[in-house]
Amino acid sequence: PVGHGRGRVEFRGVTFGYRAGALILPGLDLSVPAGQTVALVGATGAGKSTIAKLVARFYDPTGGTVSLDGVDLRRITDADLRRAVVLVTQENHLFTGTVADNIRFGRPDATDAEVEAAARAIGAHDFIAALPDGYDTDVHRRGGRLSAGQRQLVAFARAFLADPVVLILDEATSSLDVPSERLVQRALRTILRDRTALVIAHRLSTVEIADRVLVLEAGRVVEDGPPAVL
Ligand code: ATP
Ligand code: MG
Repeated sequence: PVGHGRGRVEFRGVTFGYRAGALILPGLDLSVPAGQTVALVGATGAGKSTIAKLVARFYDPTGGTVSLDGVDLRRITDADLRRAVVLVTQENHLFTGTVADNIRFGRPDATDAEVEAAARAIGAHDFIAALPDGYDTDVHRRGGRLSAGQRQLVAFARAFLADPVVLILDEATSSLDVPSERLVQRALRTILRDRTALVIAHRLSTVEIADRVLVLEAGRVVEDGPPAVL
């Protein structure tokens, strides 16, 4: 069932603290319908990344439940959860290995053709093809050094290929040059389509493409509405 569901995410009375006596989320109720793109905004320390980590089940809630398509995350196997929920973090981790290895990371069975199709869909194929060894370029070797925007695109291609029902994106705060920014925004639209997405948004352009914006303050939702209203 899980993984074939449509990606409805629900928080019911969720309390959470990293330490006893210090609740970061004092009781969160939130329902994200399947397919919706939600932008999470709010001051530093408001709890945005904490919410992301609870959806990816890095932690279990202290109280209440987080569920996916009505199934408590605690009842989902690790393998099913990894297929269903992908978290793309600010760090854009690239692993030792080639560009292709990095795109294939969540789908080791993917063929070269599938890797390239994902890169093309995301708009990363042209720069990859221009690297010294193309898809076989070692990302940590000389000549394989990728810019921040290129690393972002590789991370997106990886998530696109993994094709989770729920995508969580902790958007990078570092600014990109204008051409890279445009490529990343276009890739973002592609990757958000046809899945549920929670985006911790740092760019206004990202907030604008969300269906819904949640403003968080001290672990509480203080505003909830379409981007135009906020
Ligand atoms: P930012 O915009 O700075 O990324 P955020 O909204 O993502 O902020 P969180 O990272 O969710 O905020 O942090 C919420 C609170 O939890 C903060 O007070 C933070 O110090 C605390 N916190 C976060 N991670 C941990 C941790 N691993 N251990 C202890 N406290 C933590
Ligand atoms: Mg954060």
